Amino acid sequence: MSFFEWREAPPGDFAVVGDPVAHSLSPRMHQAAYASMGLDLTYRAVRVPRGDLAAALQRLAGTGYRGVNVTVPLKEEAFALTRGGDPRLGAVNTVALPGLEATNTDAPGFLVTLDVEPGPALVLGAGGSARALAVALHDRGFQVRLFNRSADRARALTDRSGVPILVMPEPDPSDCSLILNATSAGLQGQAPKVIWERAVPGALAYDLLYGPGSRPFLKEAAQRGLRTQDGLGLLVEQGALAFEWWLQAQAPRGAMMEAVQ
Ligand code: NDP
Repeated sequence: MSFFEWREAPPGDFAVVGDPVAHSLSPRMHQAAYASMGLDLTYRAVRVPRGDLAAALQRLAGTGYRGVNVTVPLKEEAFALTRGGDPRLGAVNTVALPGLEATNTDAPGFLVTLDVEPGPALVLGAGGSARALAVALHDRGFQVRLFNRSADRARALTDRSGVPILVMPEPDPSDCSLILNATSAGLQGQAPKVIWERAVPGALAYDLLYGPGSRPFLKEAAQRGLRTQDGLGLLVEQGALAFEWWLQAQAPRGAMMEAVQ
């Protein structure tokens, strides 16, 4: 079985929680880290539907779990339930149990993997990851433009983030050196809409997803002559930062990357 339902998860040490979660490479990556360091720890994938996170965290803590990574669609729900997260980001992906302290390792992990000079950037999506990375891009000096298929959610994101983000009426990448797909469309085998004919050749199209989920978006970008990057490097970096936050030890990034490649 590649994942457990939260009510049935056996005792363990760490887990990734989300819905869907079966596609996640986090268990393989963290188990490889533990093996390379001789740590006798377990890391599982646990399915937690939206709305169940408080009860699921209580149950996992009660069975001995020390921490969870939080993935789609629960990062904002996790922020509301925990302490220590950055209110501008409004989303956390790493939680310590049983105390419910939390942090966001996606934002710093993303910046480590990003090799683009600051300029205009188009962010697609308005979920927990889009918000955290839009703020990280702003802090790095990018002028952030944001498009989401639900415009209300895009406007709510900019209102809450407290940083200047331009909400776009259409997914227009004109002048942008970076087009960041922070939607989960790829999990349904889809690519979010982009007006590709306005994209700057040589700009970077970056998909937070990795594996098959990233292909629809990155394929469209490559056909227009854009550079492409998937979320595998981010997966490793955010996982390494979470490992270090929980265990206060240097994460074995090489072993973690090897396990997910
Ligand atoms: P959320 O569920 O919070 O947000 C999902 C966003 O995607 C929403 O804005 C939603 O729009 C949009 N969306 C969903 N389906 C479609 C579609 N078919 N077309 C256009 N837009 C769509 O997710 P997160 O923000 O937490 O995560 C986003 C993605 O990033 C996930 O796939 C996640 O796995 C990935 N990710 C990967 C990481 C890594 O380590 N590589 C790290 C962080 C995130 P609407 O508001 O209209 O519903």
